[in-house]
Amino acid sequence: MQYELTCACGWTTSGDEEEIVEAAQDHGRKLHNMEVTREQAMAMAGPAGAD
Ligand SMILES: [Zn+2]
Repeated sequence: MQYELTCACGWTTSGDEEEIVEAAQDHGRKLHNMEVTREQAMAMAGPAGAD
């Protein structure tokens, strides 16, 4: 399944669950100096193309 994830800052990524979780964790560390859990990442994600 493909997901899209949009951060509160407007950054977006898409891919399968593993890809967006890793991307969100990397983004959180680098841009927001915070650790993002898998649960947090998936809470921000939605199915790709849903809108
Ligand atoms: Zn962000």
